[in-house]
Formats: sequence, C-alpha cells, structure tokens
Amino acid sequence: MASQVVSVAAKLKRIREAFIKQIPTQLETIRAAYADVIQGEEQTIALETLHRRLHTLGGACASFGLAMLSEAAKTGEHLAKDAMRSEIPLDNQWHGGMRESLARMEQEVGLIDPSEGMDFQARELTVVTVDKPERERKCIYLCEDDSFQRLSLTTQIGCFGFEVVSFGELDHLRNAVRNAPPDAIVMDVVFPDRPMGGAEIMDLIQSERDAPIPTVFISSQSDLSHRLSAVRAGSSAYFVKPVNITELCSTLNVLTSAVQPEACRVLIVDDDPQLAEYHALILQEVGMITQTVNDPLQAMTPLMDFNPDLILMDMYMPGCNGMELAKAIRQIGAYFSIPIVFLSSETDIDKQFHAMRMGGDEFLTKPIKPHHLISSVAVRAERMKIIRSNLIRDSMTGLFNHTATKEYLDTAVAQARRTGGEICFAMIDVDRFKLVNDTYGHPIGDQVLIALSRLIGQRLRKTDIVGRFGGEEFAAVLTDCKMAEAVVLLDRLRESFSEILFQAGNETFSSTFSCGVATLSDFGNPSAIIKGADEALYEAKNGGRNRVVSAGKNR
Ligand code: GH3
Ligand code: MG
Ligand code: MG
Repeated sequence: MASQVVSVAAKLKRIREAFIKQIPTQLETIRAAYADVIQGEEQTIALETLHRRLHTLGGACASFGLAMLSEAAKTGEHLAKDAMRSEIPLDNQWHGGMRESLARMEQEVGLIDPSEGMDFQARELTVVTVDKPERERKCIYLCEDDSFQRLSLTTQIGCFGFEVVSFGELDHLRNAVRNAPPDAIVMDVVFPDRPMGGAEIMDLIQSERDAPIPTVFISSQSDLSHRLSAVRAGSSAYFVKPVNITELCSTLNVLTSAVQPEACRVLIVDDDPQLAEYHALILQEVGMITQTVNDPLQAMTPLMDFNPDLILMDMYMPGCNGMELAKAIRQIGAYFSIPIVFLSSETDIDKQFHAMRMGGDEFLTKPIKPHHLISSVAVRAERMKIIRSNLIRDSMTGLFNHTATKEYLDTAVAQARRTGGEICFAMIDVDRFKLVNDTYGHPIGDQVLIALSRLIGQRLRKTDIVGRFGGEEFAAVLTDCKMAEAVVLLDRLRESFSEILFQAGNETFSSTFSCGVATLSDFGNPSAIIKGADEALYEAKNGGRNRVVSAGKNR
C-alpha cells in the first residue's frame, strides 16, 4: 500500500517551478498589450486585453504564493479597469501608474525563489485516494482557464479524497456534464473574452437539468456583481482566490454527501385502525415515517423499537386512555421530553386542558385538515430531532460527543461479536496543544481542532465513527478493520495533519498529533479497548509524540 502513497509535495513544487518559468512570457504579452494601448488604435479592445492578462497573472500568482507579484499585477489590473470604465482619455498620471506597476512586476520576478515550497494555507502532502473505496469517492469537475491553477487545484482537491476531472474550456465542461454529470462542479468565473463566462455557462448547464449540480465558484473577484452572477447561476458557495483548500474541500464534502436530512418518525396510537391509517398516510405524503398501534396497552414495544420523534395519540381508547398513557410514557426517563400530540374528537375545552396537564404538548381536534396535522406534527418533531442531535454532537466540531462515541463503541462491539468482525479503536491527542493556545490564542487553537476533526471525518469511511472524546482528544471507531490497516490509515492521517499550515496573523505554524490504537480481538470489551488505546497513546507521547502506537499483542 505504501507504494501507492504518492508524495505530491514534489509534484506541487514542479508545477510551481513550471509556472514561474513562463512568467516572463506572460509579462511579455502584458507589455505588448500595454504597447497597443499606448498606440491608441482600437483602444477599448487593447485595454480589455491588457486587463485580462493582468487579471490572469495576478490570480495565478496569488495561488502560487507569489503575493508581491500578484499585488503588482492587481494594481495594474485595477488601473486598466478604471480606464475601461472612464470616457476620459488616459492621462500622464495613469500611464505613470501603469508603468510603475509593470516595473514592480519585473522587479518581483527577479526576486522569486523557484525552489521555495508553496505557501498554501492548507496543503496535503500525500495522495491518499487509496484510503477511500472507489464507490465512496466523489467526482468533481473543475473548470479553470489558467493551466497552472487548474493543475494545482486538481492536485490539492484530489488530496482530500475526491476524484477530480479538470477542464480548461467552458464548452468541454458542458459536454462532459451532458455525458456524465459529476457530484459537484468547481467553476472559475472569469474566462478569456468572457468576464462572467463561468456563471453564464453554469446558468445554461443547470437550465438543461432537472436537478441542479452543486456548484462552487472560485474567483479572484470579490465584488458583489461577480458574486451575484454566481448566485444567479445557482452557486452553492463562492471562494475568493487564493482559495483556502481546507474550506473548499469541506464545502465539497457537505455538498456531495448524500446524507438526506433524516425523516421525522411519528408513532400513531389510535384504536380506530382506519383513522390511524388515514393519519399515517397524510404524514407519509410529506416524507415522515410512521408506525401505528391500535391497542394502547401494546404501545411500549413499538415506542422502544421504533424510537419516534413524536407521538400522535387518540384520547379515548379501550384499556387505557390517552392521558394515562401519556403520563406513563413521560415517567420513563428517556421519554420525558418526547412531544405528545393528542388528536381527539373531544371538543370540551376543560377536558382538553386537563389532557395537556397530563403531559400532552398540543391538542388537535378531529376531523383535522391534513395541512394542520402536518404542520403541528412537523414543527414539534423537527425540534425534537434537533434537541436529540445536540445531545449527541459536539457543537464546535460537529463530531459525536464523548457519551455518543462510547455508545457507538458499545453497539459496534456487540455487532462485531455477532458477526465475528474486528474493531479498531483509536485515540488521537494533539501534541503540545497548550502551547498552541498560549502562543497563538484560543481561537486559533479552535481552528486547529476544527481542521483536525474535518480531516479525520473526510478520511475515514462512512461506516466509521469519529468523536470528540475530550478537549483536544478525538476517538475513532473503525469497524471491520484490522490493526495493520488501521495503523496505515492513521499514520497517513498523522502525516497529512502535520503538513497543514495554519495561519496566525503573519505567522504560519503546523501541528501534530499522537495516536494509540487497540483492537477488540486483543482487549475483548469496550472499556478494556479504551484503556488499551489510552495506554498506547501515553506510550506515543512518551516516545516523542507525532506517532501512532498500537496496543496489545499485535504490535
Ligand atoms: P501533550 O502533547 O502531552 O498532549 O500536551 P498538551 O499541551 O496537548 O496537553 P495538555 O493536556 O496539557 O493541554 C491540553 C490543552 O488543550 C489545555 C486546554 O486548554 C486545551 N483545550 C481543551 N479544549 C480546547 C478547545 O476546545 N479549544 C482550545 N483552543 N483549546 C482547548
Ligand atoms: Mg495534547
Ligand atoms: Mg490532552
């Protein structure tokens, strides 16, 4: 597997070197364009060409970490833009400014060090596409006219586990989408001779489709008119160049994951089977999942098994009435806050109030108009779903919290015992994290934790569970995974994390983590696995940090 790990540091460096090599040629074309402007014939066209060439160079330089050269080009670009807008003939001051920007560009070119590494905000140094099975890799079409930016973006997005197909021309992209639509599109806005070309073509592409393709626009322009044209073309996100790759990929991840918002689950308790079925059908029409119970005394088992977000309950039933059942359910700790909506033909307000006091959240009277039923149920069930999610997710990283992670480990262990599968449990702890906080401040520390949680989330398989176990400690439950595989995967993760450059003001820094891994086959039960992984983590810290240590016999 190690042979499949392709170092892209060298690849990125080569791309950058090649880019730098051809800058003088680009400068040449810029000078020629300026000469045409001076000459004065067909000045509008000449200015447009000059503007476009400066724009292209400025944008690409920013992406390759050549900030000074990019700035010089952008000064010229702005001057050209001003001139395009103005009716007044170009004066000496304008020419002075343009000449100065050209001179600064020449000067900056002389100062470039081609051997320097690229100063990307986030950079992944190992291609780990092998980590994700083919079916889980999402396909991204990238359209960018600048060949160097195209290459560098393709490489970097690929590092985050996407399959990237790139296009330099708008029409090629359009044809490709027609033949095989991708999971998402990353689209440049400004194209040669077409200042809003990216947005225009996306408008066309989306109008030819039933379901739009999630599209992220990237552009060196941050003004409202470009942003608006992207919005009108159906953009899901807009990134200003140089693009922060971590953020871009995290957006792509959200846009391409097929996780639908989970449907609300409603348990209907009504002794009239037809009525229960009728209400169930109304709710199913809007995508809710229902289960009906006709005998209130049989309600407990479906309550536990079906795990509803809301209970819709009839009032008068044989055996026990709705109020009694509601009260009994509320007395079970886990269901203390489950919404219960009474649905009854009872019109006596006093009785309705009484029912509410007994633990109902709302009282609806039969017959009810379908949309009233839907909206009453939807609002309450949605809220319940959110409350539940807050109970199991960590708010900063969105990962499972400590309790939920442990519960998943328990479930995974129980399942593995049935199927005879293996489980690896990994504990990941950021190295010398206190120092990061002390040096760069708590908010920057948070950024590091968020980046790490995203990286872990993106790299592991859908079936794996990632949790925030403590402050700067994370845990992963890898199901159906042998120790050797887990160590390879985690070690790649470790390497990638150590290569991410974080920005704190003008400084950049990187961070590392240590990791301990334990298996079910070595430790036998959930608490022993956690202890084993913790001890291995301790060993990793003692052994010098920035390493993965496996626990138990399999070492
Ligand atoms: P070691 O390599 O031994 O793990 O050293 P360390 O400094 O990482 O470990 P230590 O346990 O001494 O410090 C952990 C620090 O993490 C202390 C705590 O303030 C910080 N921390 C915990 N949660 C958060 C958080 O949510 N955000 C930030 N920024 N810091 C946090
Ligand atoms: Mg630590
Ligand atoms: Mg710690």
